[in-house]
Amino acid sequence: MSGAATLLRDVFGFDGFRPGQQEIVEAVTAGENTLSIMPTGGGKSLCFQMPALLRDGVTVVISPLIALMRDQVRALQELGVGAGALTSGNTPEETDAVWEGLEAGTLKLLYMAPERLAAGSVTGMLKRVGVSLIAVDEAHCVSQWGHDFRPDYLRIGELRRTLDVPLAAFTATADTETQAEIVQKLFDGVPPRAFLRGFDRPNIHLAFAAKNGPRAQILNFASGRRGQSGIVYCGTRAKTEGLAKALRDDGHLALHYHGGMEADDRRTAERRFQQEDGLIVVATVAFGMGIDKPDIRWVAHADLPKSIEAYYQEIGRAGRDGAPAETLTLFGPDDIRLRRSQIDEGLAPPERRVADHARLNALLGLAEALACRRANLLKYFDETDVTCGNCDLCDTPVEVFDGTTAVRKALSAMLRTEEWFGAGHLIDILLGNETDKIRERGHSDLPTYGVGKEYDKREWQAVFRQMMGHDLVRPDAARHGALRMTDAALPILRGEASISLRRDSIRAAASQRRPAVKAMVSDEDAPLLSALKAKRRGLAEAAKVPAYIIFNDRTLIEMAEKRPDTLDAMARIGGVGAKKLENFGDAFLEVINGAAAEMHPTRRKLAGRAAGSVFDQLREVQTTLSRGADGGEKPLSCSTSLLAKVAQLHAPNLDAIERILGEKRTERFGPAFLDVLQQAG
Ligand code: ADP
Ligand code: ZN
Repeated sequence: MSGAATLLRDVFGFDGFRPGQQEIVEAVTAGENTLSIMPTGGGKSLCFQMPALLRDGVTVVISPLIALMRDQVRALQELGVGAGALTSGNTPEETDAVWEGLEAGTLKLLYMAPERLAAGSVTGMLKRVGVSLIAVDEAHCVSQWGHDFRPDYLRIGELRRTLDVPLAAFTATADTETQAEIVQKLFDGVPPRAFLRGFDRPNIHLAFAAKNGPRAQILNFASGRRGQSGIVYCGTRAKTEGLAKALRDDGHLALHYHGGMEADDRRTAERRFQQEDGLIVVATVAFGMGIDKPDIRWVAHADLPKSIEAYYQEIGRAGRDGAPAETLTLFGPDDIRLRRSQIDEGLAPPERRVADHARLNALLGLAEALACRRANLLKYFDETDVTCGNCDLCDTPVEVFDGTTAVRKALSAMLRTEEWFGAGHLIDILLGNETDKIRERGHSDLPTYGVGKEYDKREWQAVFRQMMGHDLVRPDAARHGALRMTDAALPILRGEASISLRRDSIRAAASQRRPAVKAMVSDEDAPLLSALKAKRRGLAEAAKVPAYIIFNDRTLIEMAEKRPDTLDAMARIGGVGAKKLENFGDAFLEVINGAAAEMHPTRRKLAGRAAGSVFDQLREVQTTLSRGADGGEKPLSCSTSLLAKVAQLHAPNLDAIERILGEKRTERFGPAFLDVLQQAG
């Protein structure tokens, strides 16, 4: 496979294969039928792109989304690879170019939407141009029971039979039913060679937090990540609009997105997100399927997802380029109630509902986990050999206490009131509060009245939330959400089992820490990284392509850290292949070598001081917001000396910033600048 190693280095610019890639590339190149199951971001495109280059003839790639195809084609062309797409979005010139490439034999990869297969003439055409391999992306779209079913995918089996060439199928969906369906529909039931790659995404930091002023929690999280692309998932359409506005008011670039929007508006939002650097999209789960942006740096859930699979898929959109990415998932009793009632009131048959409750339970177990989230998450996918150190519970282990007595008191309060009440009233009973409801119902006569005074209201709320999380109690829709005990609670009630609860979610409920900002590089390299990003942004805008098509974040981080000073050294950076070296090598070398020499005199004065790095962050924020939070306003910027003054403010507040920048600039940049200053000091 030395040919493959050279290609990997020279064309794709990668140092080595990611785990699992090499075996797949070898099998596909050798002409075996294959089914590869790889997590999103695992690098599956390479597994058909390399074989396409190593084999004679043309590889047809069937993919469900036009936008993604166009992106991949552009990225391949940027690498100097002959690739084209036949889609309904083509201009006549693009289509002509594809035909010319096919005739001249220079086209190695032909991307096609499955709908194209409906035209009878297509198969003949593919036969004529010498197709020697079929690659199927998102192969789970053949599954009739899955949520992404595409009827035209059913034509692929026929195509394989007619062309009689090997087929390489790829998907990120793990469940065995879907796999069986893929084998049936694409391979006529003859099992292909299967590759199952692990589900760990080690570069994604996992974190959960109990809701406590959720809007502020999200704003906090976002403010620690200014200028980075992110997604906030919300449970309702209305919430996406409100939260997007709140983020804009806080000085971010933010858009909302949901299934109720006009198709045009949705496409615009998708395109802007794909194209622009540092945009936040606040969306319902409708946002995602069409998104193939490798440099999404964070994903936050303003509401709990519906199942552990949904959670995995949604956070999995972050950090596909392998660079560090962060997630935060908020959850509270209302989420649990909502998700339970959605299952109970849904139209699914009873056994399906039981399974859905179990999938929700798995997610709640993750939310209330007592140790490493990653170990807990991967256990669900049957992976037990896990190293982490990259989740909130590995960062700060939780304190656990024996919650058996508390849980028994809570259960007792429930049972003595015949399971007709919600947590609020039950807590009043436990605390011995004298409310009207207690008086009316005579609940002060209960033996459990006032037996829970060792905890306050917030602490009891955390106990009830964890009881719901452990599925000891469930809200009953038929009783207006009153809590009812499940069989899982019986051993605890009878004194046959004990239960550990997290202390931190009780205490953290009271005090919120501001999230620490995770820097992508050391302080020393940060200014160079932002200069490299600025160069990338300029080149991307000029070429009208997304920034990552030029170089992805990981490549820029490596440049900032290794500081190559010649084209040779530059060629050794991951992601810098021959074509990109030729096109962009000099431009980025100039930034690296010129960074020290050309430092603005005002900035140079700050070199080596804390204000220096603050200055660089301010400048980056300024670039992001130069056209306003929605990107459509008149460009505005601050001079270097103004920025230096702001960077050196001792007691930063908006008034002080306004005294330096004046009203207009403060309106645009003030809150974002203040954030940078407060995080720094
Ligand atoms: P997916 O499996 O989700 O389709 P992609 O094929 O889009 O993933 O790859 C995700 C990212 O990983 C891309 O940015 C790609 O350039 C990068 N990548 C793929 N293979 C390698 C490799 N061997 N070394 C470094 N980066 C890689
Ligand atoms: Zn961990």
